[in-house]
Amino acid sequence: MISAHEALQRLREGNRRFVSDDPRPEVGASRSRRRELASGQEPFAIILGCSDSRVPAEIVFDQGLGDLFVIRVAGKSVAPSQVGSVEFAADQFGTRLVVVLGHSACGAIAATLEELGRPSAEQSRNIRSIVDRIRPTVEPILSANLGASPGLLMEQAVRANIRASVDHLRHGSAILEDLIAREGLAVMGAEYALETGRVVFLEEPPRG
Ligand SMILES: [Zn+2]
Repeated sequence: MISAHEALQRLREGNRRFVSDDPRPEVGASRSRRRELASGQEPFAIILGCSDSRVPAEIVFDQGLGDLFVIRVAGKSVAPSQVGSVEFAADQFGTRLVVVLGHSACGAIAATLEELGRPSAEQSRNIRSIVDRIRPTVEPILSANLGASPGLLMEQAVRANIRASVDHLRHGSAILEDLIAREGLAVMGAEYALETGRVVFLEEPPRG
């Protein structure tokens, strides 16, 4: 399995191809690749992203079958089943890079901001569970930025949500903590811009 550093390079390069509208022609979705993978997989990165139809991880990173282990949920909130999915992939396949991929104008975060401004009793219990998970990271942003424009609030809330999810993965799982300490697992936050297609990683790449 490749290192977190190398995996990050692959993602960066793939996103560069996507942004410049120059995807790999041989991107691995061929019949032969499918057959090759039938007996096992070795995804080089785990992506925890949003379900938003405009942010499919394989496409924005120009990757094919078997390359990415992707978990998508509206607002990419980190519930136990998401942590479990990351643990499973990191443990089972030896994948060494986890990317929490947020994006601009995220509807789930907009819904949370809206809910905080004007609580509604009519929301379904299931949607509320998503909003409730995002709420603690967004609330402090609202109170620290009274009077800020909705655009600025949204930007900050998206970033805070990415950071909170990264933090949760780094410190909310004994398995992941151990892999980080002993096996070079890296958990990184990244933000996708809907207009440019560009993914910006929020911190320095891991060494090694
Ligand atoms: Zn979203």
